[in-house]
Amino acid sequence: MRVRDSRGPTTFGHPIIPLPISRKNNVTMAREFIPFAKPDIGNEEIEAVSAVLRSGWVTTGQKSLEFEKRFEELFGDGTIAMAVNSATAGLHLALEAIGIGPGDEVIVPSLTFTATAEVVRYLGGDPILVDVDANTLNIAPDRIRAAITPKTRAIIPVHYAGLPCDMTAILEIAAQHGLRVVEDAAHALPAAHRGRPIGTLNSDVTVFSFYANKTMTTGEGGMVVTRRPDLAKRMRVMRLHGIDRDAFDRFRSKVPAWYYEVVAPGFKYNLTDIGAALGLVQLGRLEGFQDRRVALAERYRQALATLPLILPSWGEANDRHAWHLFVLRLNEDAHARGLSRDGLIDHLSRDGIGTSVHYVPLHRQPYWRDSLKVEAEDFPVTEAAYQAMLSIPLFTAMSDDDQEHIINSVTSYFA
Ligand SMILES: *Cc1c(COP(=O)(O)O)cnc(C)c1O
Repeated sequence: MRVRDSRGPTTFGHPIIPLPISRKNNVTMAREFIPFAKPDIGNEEIEAVSAVLRSGWVTTGQKSLEFEKRFEELFGDGTIAMAVNSATAGLHLALEAIGIGPGDEVIVPSLTFTATAEVVRYLGGDPILVDVDANTLNIAPDRIRAAITPKTRAIIPVHYAGLPCDMTAILEIAAQHGLRVVEDAAHALPAAHRGRPIGTLNSDVTVFSFYANKTMTTGEGGMVVTRRPDLAKRMRVMRLHGIDRDAFDRFRSKVPAWYYEVVAPGFKYNLTDIGAALGLVQLGRLEGFQDRRVALAERYRQALATLPLILPSWGEANDRHAWHLFVLRLNEDAHARGLSRDGLIDHLSRDGIGTSVHYVPLHRQPYWRDSLKVEAEDFPVTEAAYQAMLSIPLFTAMSDDDQEHIINSVTSYFA
């Protein structure tokens, strides 16, 4: 008995006007447009940010240091964590620190956000796009092997949707060929490969994102994690203008506050204490967030099991999936019946449900297609997945009632 939402997502996923709907018990309720993602920010976050604003110290300082310390504790002995103002910045710092330069090749999946590849270009290198595994949608180890040339320097695996890549195979390939590994873990907090948390594996650097729609947020921000002191030292310097210490240290150490040395043409990639204060509260809620994400994913799995859909992979028994995204793919039966991804997106939109597509593959993006001279035929798995996929809402603040509405809408499309 729902009244369909005919407005569409015209308010950037944050509609102002509630929609009247009539329910079984004849009580008129309002159902707001359900975006595909939404940050879960409560009073505690607002209080923490307010305290920073009142403190008089709003940029990198005590809160950022505390935020880094919490990640070092989370990932254990030997971990060095560095807060940055985006995961893109963190990936750039990591590639700069491992020495990527003009002519170097870095292997990345085509099924990712452009940030994974653009950082290679920042340094004059060439991202080499490869296909993904049809089951996990993660970068395929055999495709990595096939892409290695004498110019290959590094691999950037992306833990797509929050499901860890086959890091055992990837680290083995890297060791065999003398390649560096930088994990794009933008979706993967908290996640684990074969029981080992992402952030503790033997890669060179792991980068997490705290962008607004990720599993926790600082508004904009990220965390770089490494166990290599040499890389940490370089990244710390490059994070703040190539200066050898950050602004906070200058206020605390015995060296005069006004003195600093520039040792490289660095970047401006530090996180603010405003963001760090928000992040500290979010990190404290992370396991609770994760429980909710798992529960939502499990309910989708059960409710959508009999539909002509390919449901997301749950990984191996001792993998931990961060469930950043819930990606559906229409299967061959659905296509044979004339149903389509675009049709399902329209159907859900009419029911007031936001969706997205992760991602338009890089080999289809004009810049990458032209500059790398790649063709869609070289990425058959990514192509097939892209044509069939959509991400349905998955966020912790979603109510069970909202999820039921989504399940009913998806089900009715196939009825
Ligand atoms: C979000 C995202 C990034 C970039 O994160 P920012 O913090 O927004 O810079 C990089 N890679 C992937 C796969 C992402 O989803």
